[in-house]
Amino acid sequence: MAEETRSTCPYCGVGCGVLIQTEGARITGVRGDPAHPANFGRLCTKGSTLHLTAAPAIAGQARLLAPARRPARGAETQAIGWDEALDEAAERFARVIAEDGPDAVGFYLSGQLLTEDYYVFNKLAKGLVGTNNLDTNSRLCMSSAVAGYKKTLGADAPPACYDDVKDAGCLFIAGSNAAWAHPIFFRRIEDAKRANPAMKIVVADPRRTDTAEFADLHLPLQPGSDVMLFHAMLHVMLREGWADEAFIAAHTQGFEALRDTVRDCTPERAGEVCGLPVADIVQAARLFATGGSGDAARRAPTLSLYCMGLNQSSHGTDKNAALIGLHLATGQIGRPGAGPFSLTGQPNAMGGREVGGLSNLLPAHRDMANAAHRAEVAAFWGVPAIPATPGLSAIEMFRAAAEGRVRALWIACTNPAQSMPDQALVRRALERCEFVVLQEAYATTATAAFADLLLPATTWGEKDGTVTNSERRISRVRPAVPAPGEARHDWAIAADFGQRLQARLALRGVAPPRPELLLYHSPEQVWNEHRATTAGRDLDITGLSYALLDQLGPQQWPMPAGQPAGTPRLYQDGVFATPDGRARFSAEPWRPLAETRDADWPYALNTGRLRDQWHGMSRTGTLGRLFGHVAEPALQMAPHDMAREGLAAGDLVDVASRRGSAVLPVQPDATLAPAQTFVAMHWGEEFLGGRDARGQALAGVNALTTPAFCPTSKQPELKHAAVRIRRLALP
Ligand code: SF4
Repeated sequence: MAEETRSTCPYCGVGCGVLIQTEGARITGVRGDPAHPANFGRLCTKGSTLHLTAAPAIAGQARLLAPARRPARGAETQAIGWDEALDEAAERFARVIAEDGPDAVGFYLSGQLLTEDYYVFNKLAKGLVGTNNLDTNSRLCMSSAVAGYKKTLGADAPPACYDDVKDAGCLFIAGSNAAWAHPIFFRRIEDAKRANPAMKIVVADPRRTDTAEFADLHLPLQPGSDVMLFHAMLHVMLREGWADEAFIAAHTQGFEALRDTVRDCTPERAGEVCGLPVADIVQAARLFATGGSGDAARRAPTLSLYCMGLNQSSHGTDKNAALIGLHLATGQIGRPGAGPFSLTGQPNAMGGREVGGLSNLLPAHRDMANAAHRAEVAAFWGVPAIPATPGLSAIEMFRAAAEGRVRALWIACTNPAQSMPDQALVRRALERCEFVVLQEAYATTATAAFADLLLPATTWGEKDGTVTNSERRISRVRPAVPAPGEARHDWAIAADFGQRLQARLALRGVAPPRPELLLYHSPEQVWNEHRATTAGRDLDITGLSYALLDQLGPQQWPMPAGQPAGTPRLYQDGVFATPDGRARFSAEPWRPLAETRDADWPYALNTGRLRDQWHGMSRTGTLGRLFGHVAEPALQMAPHDMAREGLAAGDLVDVASRRGSAVLPVQPDATLAPAQTFVAMHWGEEFLGGRDARGQALAGVNALTTPAFCPTSKQPELKHAAVRIRRLALP
């Protein structure tokens, strides 16, 4: 008799509810949860095939089922027991900490971990070890959105919700191909347009994606020119009297500086920088300011939706802040259908932010740089202090490992040897690092080859805890089947390791014994501790227990004790999360890309998602049917550029950046502008002949991408690298 377990899809930040069907200890099917407010029963191609990735014949080949040690670099791994594995890990970490201090170790996590996993790791690093060197692949995904919200609205809190799509008169979509990256959310956009054909959709994206194809106005701007576009739109709004001066006066600060910044950002100048017709910039400003009505006296709501095109940039914070500034300048925030709404890439990047799972954050949206916040967390955890030394962000941590400053790395649920930019740097770091632990569900990732110790973790269908989706909605993740082999839950591995580590640190006299610090017996116990840290904070969820989540279903934070349900929309009273309640404008000017094109490196390389694949394909790559949409990696180029280079479809080309090269078949894409190219981010070992500058083998598009990052958010510029392309002469 089949049973159904209510849980959440582990792929993207839409956070769809799923019902997992099981027979005994076997997952046999999956269907969308009709009661889940994120998807109301719908699932995309990835979500609807989840059960197939869990089939024993597939999972058995790919899964890591027992702890394993690699006796020497390059050698085969040997299975060992959990006690032996965790004792060795604790001993090696304790030795490094005793010799070189806590900042000689680092933890690199994932937006696919559950909130409870994240909380325990964060406490392990910042509370027990005493290092802020804890970062995550969310740094590659959402950290510019975090910095943009904090800089302008005062808190890392997306103010809108999915329901706002149907109330909007104008959707302004920037740097997001939601049709592929957030498919079930995009269904809402299609539904809203069907129900209200007068709704206007503007898409700013260098590529004519499926999302852009759906728009009333597509702005195919040059890569990296977003801030200039937004400033020119504000210039037009001010010139035409479309700004909301009353809202600016009552609810904001710093507008005069921004007014000065945009004074010379005329649509004519922006037209040149962005490569757009002046009339389209003016039209975009009109639609945004008036909510699609065309008349500021009949202002309808505008909702902006944005993602990696803004975030993955060497000035990602400026892009986010400039777009949020357009909402503040026009009063397009705090009411149904209006607001700046960042779409989260990963299933739990939000939950990780909530518990402070970045090197600059502490639990419940507290800041590492704030002494009072550090003292609050230290008191809560019962430790003498949280270290004041800033932690290393993702790129900084791997750079430090490549230089020998970080000697031991703990990597959980992510694949930096493929997914981080400048793969050559990351692989050098993993080679140089004395001790690399990889806690993973899959044994097949590129990073596994560098690990000294592999620890098997549970995954979707087995895990128990919570995740938060793009609209701040917290959903339960529930186990439908027992853990396979010797796999354990991520939080439990971290807690067990922490117990062993604290004993060794105490033996060495490095720290007092703290056996109680990570003494957890269930994810609910971790959840309740996390809830308590949020009391009085902007994301207060003191009222949200597991029992209430079971009873009410998924809820949006904040939900303080006594509040009967979650909070769909923020700032409806016009009071923002800043000390004086006023939102802040950012007056940063447009700045060029980190790496500009020139005669030697004449093409722009853009990267992004495919509709039917997820990240490094550990899971989706196990299913043949998910290759039906796109079967193999390719460099996409404008037909005009291909003709100029003497290339035909399918020709093999050597694509090189300053950091490495890759060999790929080339395919024409008539939607690309001249000198722009695109490669999907997912492919790894399927790449042909990738090499770094020293000739070492690399795999995937990140052989080419740059580690340059935004100085505020530290998010790298994965969306642009300057490359050259040569036809490969075959022997
Ligand atoms: Fe899963 Fe995202 Fe697809 Fe929903 S849209 S089913 S969360 S991959």
